[in-house]
Amino acid sequence: MSISEDSLRRYKEKRNFRKTPEPGEEEADLRWAEKRPIFVIQKHDASNLHYDFRIEVKGILKSWAVPKGPSTDPSEKRLAIPTEDHPLEYANFEGVIPKDEYGGGTVMVWDRGSYRNLKEQGDHDSEPESVAEQIEAGHLTIWLEGEKLTGGYALIRTGGGDEARWLLIKMDDEEADARRNPVSTEPKSVLSGRALDEIRAEEGENDE
Ligand code: MN
Repeated sequence: MSISEDSLRRYKEKRNFRKTPEPGEEEADLRWAEKRPIFVIQKHDASNLHYDFRIEVKGILKSWAVPKGPSTDPSEKRLAIPTEDHPLEYANFEGVIPKDEYGGGTVMVWDRGSYRNLKEQGDHDSEPESVAEQIEAGHLTIWLEGEKLTGGYALIRTGGGDEARWLLIKMDDEEADARRNPVSTEPKSVLSGRALDEIRAEEGENDE
């Protein structure tokens, strides 16, 4: 998960931009964002349904695939598998990736907003740490200001190398709520108000 100049190389290698409607290298239009940096969570009905959790770091979106999606309950630890960096413009992408392309399936913008680094100021016994430094160290804490999710979230790495797995955990703050379950009770797009099957019906290939 190191952040490098060619960090979008893997993203581009995996995709055929003549076939997928996903963004390439165009400049990101983030006029919707009241603040930066941004985050986005995309519900992705690929071979397995999952939620792609992405945060803006140094001009790209660092990304994790969360099979069960985020929780608002601090006692729930959600597996988060690192995936390739995505371009910022991906935060605007909702549509259908053709079945035979990488990540084939329907993508919805399930939540998005801004976030802030909970370690940017440091405290009496720690130095400020950038988000990039925290990702390198495998322990990140951020405050989300989304339409569905708000409050502190921790991403914690377990294991190393290619076997690295992360956990996405709601921090125990005033926004924690063990009774909410937004993944099931708020299933629609914050971008278009559509459900997955509506996106699929409106933007899918006609021959399906
Ligand atoms: Mn995905």
